[in-house]
Amino acid sequence: MTKVEAQKLSAYWQHKLGLCNWDIEWEFNYVEMVPFPDNENRYVYGCCITMPEYFVASITIATKHPKDVIENTIRHELAHVLTSELKLSIKDYDESLWLALDESIARRIAKAF
Ligand SMILES: [Zn+2]
Repeated sequence: MTKVEAQKLSAYWQHKLGLCNWDIEWEFNYVEMVPFPDNENRYVYGCCITMPEYFVASITIATKHPKDVIENTIRHELAHVLTSELKLSIKDYDESLWLALDESIARRIAKAF
């Protein structure tokens, strides 16, 4: 998939998921996996860093895959953006429980479409 095609897909899903108020910096790398932030030994199809208090996020997507895989990864990372808004409103949350729930929610939202 070309970078332009990936940009079109990401803009489509950002709009569809109601995240137009977010300033998202997208990075599309033509590789099979991208490094996971804060863990040099872990590689993933996409990763997302959010700052929900500012509605700012940074998303990196590995694009050396078929379109359906890339689109699923885009939805998955955008789901993390959605859930980060929830995290902001929860006080005294358990970090490990949050990470497990967040990942589960992101997987289900990504596959729901
Ligand atoms: Zn995830």
